[in-house]
Amino acid sequence: MHRITLFIFIIIPACIFSQVVSVDKVEPPFWWTGFKNADLQLLIYGKNIASTSVSVDYPGFLLKKVHKVSNPNYLFLDFTLSNGTRPGIATIQFKLKDKIAGKYLYELKARKKGSAQRKSFNSHDVMYLLMPDRFANGDTSNDVIPGMAEQVNRANKDGRHGGDLQGIMHHLDYIRDLGATALWINPLLENDQPIYSYHGYSTTNYYRVDPRFGTNEDYLKLSDALHQRGIKLIMDMIFNHCGSGHWWMQDLPTADWVNQWPAFTRTNYRAGTFTDPYVSQSDSNLFVRGWFDQTMPDLNQANPYVKNYLIQNSIWWIEYAGLDGIRQDTYPYPFKEMMAEWGTRLLEEYPGFNVVGECWLNYPASVAYWQKGSKNKDGYESQLPSVFDFPLYDALNKAFGEKDGWNTGITRLYEILAQDFSYPDPNNIVVFADNHDVNRYLDTQNDDVRKLKMAMAYILTTRGIPEIYYGTEILMTTGADKSGDGNKRRDFPGGWPGDARNAFTEQGRTTAEADMYSYLKKLIHWRNANEVIHTGKFRHFIPADGIYVFFRFNTKTTIMVVMNNNEETKTIETSRYNEFLKKYKSGTAIISGNSLDDLSKISIPGKSVEIIELK
Ligand code: CA
Repeated sequence: MHRITLFIFIIIPACIFSQVVSVDKVEPPFWWTGFKNADLQLLIYGKNIASTSVSVDYPGFLLKKVHKVSNPNYLFLDFTLSNGTRPGIATIQFKLKDKIAGKYLYELKARKKGSAQRKSFNSHDVMYLLMPDRFANGDTSNDVIPGMAEQVNRANKDGRHGGDLQGIMHHLDYIRDLGATALWINPLLENDQPIYSYHGYSTTNYYRVDPRFGTNEDYLKLSDALHQRGIKLIMDMIFNHCGSGHWWMQDLPTADWVNQWPAFTRTNYRAGTFTDPYVSQSDSNLFVRGWFDQTMPDLNQANPYVKNYLIQNSIWWIEYAGLDGIRQDTYPYPFKEMMAEWGTRLLEEYPGFNVVGECWLNYPASVAYWQKGSKNKDGYESQLPSVFDFPLYDALNKAFGEKDGWNTGITRLYEILAQDFSYPDPNNIVVFADNHDVNRYLDTQNDDVRKLKMAMAYILTTRGIPEIYYGTEILMTTGADKSGDGNKRRDFPGGWPGDARNAFTEQGRTTAEADMYSYLKKLIHWRNANEVIHTGKFRHFIPADGIYVFFRFNTKTTIMVVMNNNEETKTIETSRYNEFLKKYKSGTAIISGNSLDDLSKISIPGKSVEIIELK
């Protein structure tokens, strides 16, 4: 399969075209037979391509319609693949009058067996998030790619540092040993932008891994290597905007390919405008049509060609790279009707597929609006299976650093969970203490490691799918200079040749880092082995005196989690929890390792969490 791909990539430039017409891009570059949806729309880009007539002669691969748009350098070709179309190579012919002006060999691949039935990420998993430019540099030969707009500069916190796919490959055993079972990698597609290109959120080619990270083939290899280790691969996608350096920005297919303004106009970033029943038209318009940044043109997903382009692109990557899930950036910013159509298409082809959307909103009701199954008053039916729990993230940031009160301190966690009635599926929500866009958790807690441990114990035992940001396990911080995103995404020590130490290894960690690493590793592995945390029910008790107690249980197992938000050790009388404890005589404390022979009183050190397996 891989060989055929290579063959096609080589043969494209060998196609013969006349002087006046060229075919520079065909996207998607190849496709598969056997999808439920038989339609395929190709974008053809090349000089005066609209002046040609197009034909294809391949059994079952029928050219249904040729669309011309205002720009003569584009054609959009609608194909239908009839049931039983065989894999192979179809020749698409472009004719000028009666002369053949060019050909494109279009490959229809066979889908891998079981492709539609793939398992996606879910609450059984622990997700590890990493930024590829900042994790590890496994191949210094790709640090500088001649002709690309930005060159490597590790001294610049906002520059490219040289991390890549090979660097991730070198540390897959590290990720597996920590216990992660799903890997979310920040965007990998080409970002040929002059500055800030390292983060990957300004796509300049939707079908190409950035050569500074590696090749499409390398991505495939990474996918296979992850799967061999039982780790799922989650791709980060961005439908809202592309990069200003995208090739089509120089020669747009149609004026409305991106949302246009008389002068640069920024979105108001107020994602709540979409669900606000009182929203003004201008606020709503600015939110969805404004540009995310000067270098991030706002794609117009209401344009049917843009819509098809993005939907097909995501299916192409799932099928090509064997993806196990997608994280969709800035989820509420694109036109929501298109996003629902996208979700419908994905679930039609991959019924068990999971997508988590970045709906960065502060209230559970606002986030829940976007989860598939939500009964929304405006009638909007979202098709997004999973969302990030931003309200819980916010609560976690405040809970351990302030005085416990009626609605402050640890009660914040209780109050957010108490609003789970808003969500159609509270267990399919991604819970996290931080990510690449916010200050690292330790920074928000004045470097108090006890609070970081509490947050990790919490996200690993509450409902949902925990996400852990790379470096949390070795106490990485934003650093003294808390300004700018670059510091939230520092290089993992030991990821670069010549680094002073290698924190990927036991010997390379300080005592404090080693302590955090073993704490987290132990908890993750414990969670991986305990079905009751993945799918068990959740019950909690109103926090009192800075103590928050909740239970996870199924018919076989009951787990008690006790959180002590006080500075001092507390001994709690447990009669209040008898509805759960009455069946049990003893317990094992997972974190301390202690056996508890008397459950009537439980002692918990200050600023800590204990997880107790009841017996
Ligand atoms: Ca590199």
